Amino acid sequence: PMKPINVVVTGAAGQIAYSLLYQLAAGTVFGPDQPINLHLLDIPVMMKVLEGVVMELEDLALPLLREIVPTADPAVAFKDVAAAFLVGAMPRKEGMERKDLLAANVEIFKVQGEALDKYAKKDVKILVVGNPANTNALICSHYAPSIPKQNFSAMTRLDQNRAQAALAARLNVQVDQVKKVIIWGNHSSTQYPDAAHATVTVQGSTKSVPAALNQDNWLQTTFVETIQKRGAAVIAARKMSSAMSAAKAAGDHMRDWWMGTKPGEYVSMAVFSDGSYGIPENIVFSFPVTIEPHGQYKIVQGLPISEFARSKLTVTANELEEERAEAYKVLQK
Ligand code: NDP
Repeated sequence: PMKPINVVVTGAAGQIAYSLLYQLAAGTVFGPDQPINLHLLDIPVMMKVLEGVVMELEDLALPLLREIVPTADPAVAFKDVAAAFLVGAMPRKEGMERKDLLAANVEIFKVQGEALDKYAKKDVKILVVGNPANTNALICSHYAPSIPKQNFSAMTRLDQNRAQAALAARLNVQVDQVKKVIIWGNHSSTQYPDAAHATVTVQGSTKSVPAALNQDNWLQTTFVETIQKRGAAVIAARKMSSAMSAAKAAGDHMRDWWMGTKPGEYVSMAVFSDGSYGIPENIVFSFPVTIEPHGQYKIVQGLPISEFARSKLTVTANELEEERAEAYKVLQK
């Protein structure tokens, strides 16, 4: 029998965590044979709500779920964790400027970076979901120098899933027949959803998505805008931000990182740039990656970048460099 691993979820009393925790306990992320201990971190005022979440987790009666540790103390939450879902972040409030949001989150991710550095396993895999996710991951890593940079990532998988679903609908195929859609850059409105390298399989024959659509124009306009604005569309309809789909995407991201990607496919993850595709180093940028089972991710190399794509990549990289500059300004204060 496998030994349980410790998994931490921050923002554990929140909406995304509510959907994520079930997946973790049910074995869809770390596998059906991997028992887990769940460490649930939230802020002190949320401890009562968290008690309710713990009761529900107990009542799932799922055999893989061993210990449940609700806490407001990062030292307890990050103790010996093998995987970390950093979901909790300061939410955007009305009238709040981007800078204020960044300042609040820099502080949260500094504290959590320090706690990871001190208490987590050195091979911990860290997924940042809380926004601004890419820059939060950068800050977190900065304060956890004993953990390799390659172990930090931020989520763009929901954007990838949205793009895949939108293409499948447009092409009138099942969603799993569309592969290799890429999200480049920041998890923000500057992200570039790119279907230039995507493939679609119809009745056993596979072709490129641009060829199947026969209109580059739609891919460069409506498609990009629809994906960039999908989150806002969900909020407008639900009066709350997407949580079920965000949680599912977080599970997808960690499962592929843990278990490996499928042969001949790649997925998008925001990771430390190593200069691939001319992207500046030392920002957390979403790239297409492949992953060997229980291995490191590798950034897919050699994809041709059109002039249009290059202009999009530059915009989103610039935004990440600006966020980094603002974050470091806050830290120096
Ligand atoms: P959610 O669980 O809905 O969202 C959590 C974070 O995920 C937000 O930063 C949100 O960003 C982000 N996010 C990233 N991608 C998406 C996406 N595609 N759709 C929606 N959200 C996305 O927020 P709740 O307010 O329900 O819960 C947050 C919890 O975190 C609260 O319980 C709070 O107390 C806790 N918290 C915990 C901290 C800690 O553990 N130290 C620190 C701060 C908060 P966006 O705001 O841009 O939508």
